[in-house]
Amino acid sequence: MRAAVFDALAAFERPASAYDIAEAVSKAQDRRVAANSVYRILDLFTAANVARRIESENAYMVNRHPECLHDCIFLVCDNCGGTTHLDDDRLADGVRAAAKQQGFNPERPVIEVRGLCAECG
Ligand SMILES: [Zn+2]
Ligand SMILES: [Zn+2]
Repeated sequence: MRAAVFDALAAFERPASAYDIAEAVSKAQDRRVAANSVYRILDLFTAANVARRIESENAYMVNRHPECLHDCIFLVCDNCGGTTHLDDDRLADGVRAAAKQQGFNPERPVIEVRGLCAECG
């Protein structure tokens, strides 16, 4: 089941929701797969850093560099849904530092930029 979910996720060009993935796995396996069981597996994937969650889309992407332990930054196109993953530790550290200045313990910065990608803009 994990392999099936991973394959389905990897086949999407855009971030995929648990429902998108459940539908793809259901088709591939010719049986009904519930989004709830997909969610549980996606949680394991994100904990292992082999997938990343795009919070503003409630969707997931395969992490092409799972050894990357940055606070990943995602650029999400409002038109086509295309999502670019980039890492800039100076920016992310700045967000963490600003949070700490407020006495806030920043466990997991979520940095997503909405707009138009190079092709749509
Ligand atoms: Zn990253
Ligand atoms: Zn676009």
